[in-house]
Amino acid sequence: MDRSEQKMRFFYALRSKGVTDARVLAAMEAVDRGLFVRGLFAERAYEDTPLPIGCGQTISQPSVVALMTQALEISPRDKVLEVGTGSGYQAAILSHLARRVYTVDRHRRLVREAETIFQALDLANITAIVADGSFGLPDQAPFDRIIVTAAAEDPPGPLLAQLRIGGIMVLPVGQSDTVQSLIKVTRHAESFDYEELRPVRFVPLVEGLAQD
Ligand code: SAH
Repeated sequence: MDRSEQKMRFFYALRSKGVTDARVLAAMEAVDRGLFVRGLFAERAYEDTPLPIGCGQTISQPSVVALMTQALEISPRDKVLEVGTGSGYQAAILSHLARRVYTVDRHRRLVREAETIFQALDLANITAIVADGSFGLPDQAPFDRIIVTAAAEDPPGPLLAQLRIGGIMVLPVGQSDTVQSLIKVTRHAESFDYEELRPVRFVPLVEGLAQD
């Protein structure tokens, strides 16, 4: 199968899984997933599957990236926080849709590698930071949108607190590594709305900074 046929199948897979938002599809089209997948796995970059990226982490399945992005309903004025930079792929997609993207990861190596790609692609509206994302980024709060790409048992309190009123947060939650649900949290003036979107499987949100 040649590259253009691979790409056609890739977009067919996205559409068949419910990705219909034209802006999200355009952002997915603008970012080459092949740049974010390393070594041996690069040739599988256009399969709708998660792949290893080092540090025991994975780049998420593209249809899940697209569905999470779609659920965020990002407007071009939004300031977005991503917890879990990983390869940087999700952040690169966000950077095409939002005004400003902050992305944090507990692995210094992943943040450094992602930054190199952001610079090469001239994605100047992304700031990548080494931090424990369960505490958010208090200095940059509030955020219009928050996306968490690692699973916690419950939505972390600091992230709920750093979501602007009217803001949306999308994250996987679950008690175990195998049973998780993607949820969409909307903050109102006096309350939060929780909507369950679909079952998913993410690596766990881990406390503290990693050694590498
Ligand atoms: N969004 C990524 C995939 C992320 S995989 C992509 O597009 O490739 C999940 C990431 O969450 C991993 O890189 C892991 O290191 C990170 N992570 C886990 N717990 C974290 C925490 N407490 N703070 C910040 N990052 C965390």
